[in-house]
Order: sequence, then structure tokens, then C-alpha cells
Amino acid sequence: MMLLNGGLLGLVHRDLPHDIRPSALDWRVGTLLMAGGSVLVAFQQFLPPEFMLPLGNGFMLVGLTLYWRSLRRFYGRRDIPWIFLPALFAVIGIYGFAAILPSFSGRVFIATVAMVFLNSAAAWTLRRYALDEVSMSRRVLSIIFIVTGTFMALRCVIFFMLPSTPPNSLDNTNLVNVITPIVVGLLPIIGTTAFLLLCSDRIKRRWERAASTDYLTGLANRRTIVTIGQERFAAAQASRVGFTVAVIDIDHFKAINDKLGHDIGDEALKHIARILEKNCRGPNMVGRHGGEEFVALFDRASAESAKAAAERLRAAVDAASLTLVGHDPLRIKISIGMGVMRAEDRTFDDVLRRADQALYQAKNNGRNRLESLG
Ligand code: GH3
Ligand code: MG
Ligand code: MG
Repeated sequence: MMLLNGGLLGLVHRDLPHDIRPSALDWRVGTLLMAGGSVLVAFQQFLPPEFMLPLGNGFMLVGLTLYWRSLRRFYGRRDIPWIFLPALFAVIGIYGFAAILPSFSGRVFIATVAMVFLNSAAAWTLRRYALDEVSMSRRVLSIIFIVTGTFMALRCVIFFMLPSTPPNSLDNTNLVNVITPIVVGLLPIIGTTAFLLLCSDRIKRRWERAASTDYLTGLANRRTIVTIGQERFAAAQASRVGFTVAVIDIDHFKAINDKLGHDIGDEALKHIARILEKNCRGPNMVGRHGGEEFVALFDRASAESAKAAAERLRAAVDAASLTLVGHDPLRIKISIGMGVMRAEDRTFDDVLRRADQALYQAKNNGRNRLESLG
């Protein structure tokens, strides 16, 4: 099963985005090593144990280390240069207790310390670096690491408390020995499925973000702002609270493009987007409606307070300037048209259309100003 799972991950490897591939490769090799290690430990009777035991445990410990590194890579953490040292020290210790001073308890103790460390490190990585994502696959994966680590620790305690420690891990009269392979199999089998779901969650979130944000400014795009506008319009109508929409348009933007080039035009758009976002607080939100036009939503606000908030946006843009290499700082101005929701409005578009008319007035009345239609 473990080998098949490792093979499956190899088949889907090329379908994963480039940045996830190093992490998936680590997980795949980790799974194959866990499988190889389990086979070697199971066949310890057939070849010299001083050779099989360090090798089998070594495969499993390096496999676990690769799981840990895979998760670190998944979350964009730097590689740790000493990451394989715990596995290496443990293998040397296991070799000592297999070839020089044969002792089952000694080997169990050393393997347990290394396994608990590696499982905890992997669980901690999942917890520490995934602050912004709430995903079931991540939770399942951390539970598997915690269960495996805890089981290994308990197994060690039980062996030390037993009056007669079993002679080796193949003694089937010992219940703990019977359960061990099942628990060891959790990570490569169920864990691999959880890891693949973790990858698919990340890809899904990426698509959702790409579909809802504007690639240039990072603000909400037209689709998002219109969808949220419609929802807020409906909620405001139902609860009879104020709702205002502002259409914000950069003044003489074509001249910036014509004089300074399209790239600086793009910089100017990002600069305005940053100021608008920074000054849109609380439930208010702003998005890029298209071209050099933005839309702000003022939720649950009276016409006066929405007007004051929009005027703050205009003043903030007016007060700022964009520093450019090789050019004078650029002062950019915006005009704002506000549409205040009326009781007879039927859709969000009714308010948006009024905001557009107000913007037309603001442009006609000299620009760098705010006009409102209620
Ligand atoms: P007004 O004061 O009346 O609004 O004049 P304006 O020049 O801002 O208006 P106009 O609609 O004539 O020009 C808008 C320009 O915005 C034209 C278009 O090339 C430019 N534009 C639209 N999208 C982008 C973009 O993504 N990047 C850049 N650099 N320019 C863009
Ligand atoms: Mg325009
Ligand atoms: Mg314009």
C-alpha cells in the first residue's frame, strides 16, 4: 500500500504547480523510504540484524525527515542544513545496540527519541506556518503526526514498564508489536492522501484568489466588487440602513500614459490603489472596476458620513505624490461621484448608475472634487 501510494504521487507529480513539486518529491521519496524501511524491519530475521536494523530504521527515519522537509518546503521555509543529523545519530545508536551491545530496549529508546522529535517537528511546522489557512487536510495531517509520535512514546514507556521486554519487534505475542505496523502505516498511506488534499486546497485557493482580485493592484476586481455590492445593497434594503457607492476616476490619466509611458501609468494605478485601500476602513471596501476607475462601497453609513469618508479618500490622494526615478514626483488627482441608495432603488446597478452621473458632474465641474446624487 505504501509503495502504491508513493507511486501514485509520482504519477500526479507533473500535474502539480512548479512551486509545490519539490515538496511533493520529498513526500514521495519519504513514502518510498517508509515502505522500504518497513520491509527491511519485517525481514530482520532473514539477514544479519546488525545490518537490517540500522538500515530499516534508517530508511524510516530519513523518510520521516523528508516528510518534515516536505512540509517546510510546502510553506516556503528555508532548508535546514542539519535536518538529516537526528536520523543519522539515531542510526549510529541503533547500529551500536544491534552490533556492539545488542539490546532491544536500547534500540527502541533511540528510535523513539528520533521518531518523536521528527513527528513533533512536522506537526509543529503544520501548525506554525499555516496561519492563514483553515483546511481539514492540514488538520488531519497534524493529527496523524501527533498520533504516530504519541504512540511511539507510549510504546517505549510500555516496553520499559513490562516485566519482560519482548525480544524483538516481530514477537507477535506482544500486542504493542502487533499494533505498531498499523500506526507506522498511517503516515505513508492516509498521510499521503491528506498531503495530496493539502496540495489541492492550495491550488483551489490560488484559483479563487486569481478569480476575485485584480492582478495589477491586488484590490478586489470588478466581479468581486459587484457581487459584494449586490449583497450589501440587498442587506441595506432589508434592514433599511444607508448604503452609498462611490465611483472614483483618475483625472487626466491618459496624459500620464502618453507623457510617461504605460509602465509608469501602471505604477500610478498601484499607487492610487494603495492609498484608497489604506483609507477605506471598517466595513467600507474598494475595488478596481476597470481601467483607471475604482469603486468604493460605504456600508451601513449615512449619506453624510459616507461623503466625509469619500472626501478623505480624495484628500489623501491629493496630498500624496508618487516618487519616480528620473522624473519629478507625480501628483495625481481623482474625481469622485457618489450615489446614495434611495428607497425606490431595485438593484445595486441603480445606485452605481447614479454614482456614474455624479462622477460626470464632478468632471464637468473642474475635477479633483466630489459630487453626490441622493
Ligand atoms: P478624465 O480626467 O476625463 O478621466 O481623463 P482621462 O485621461 O483619465 O480619461 P480617459 O478615459 O480618456 O483615459 C483613461 C485611460 O486609462 C486610457 C487607457 O489607456 C488608460 N488605462 C486603462 N487601463 C489601464 C491600465 O491597466 N494601465 C495603464 N497604464 N493605463 C490604463
Ligand atoms: Mg475613466
Ligand atoms: Mg480618468
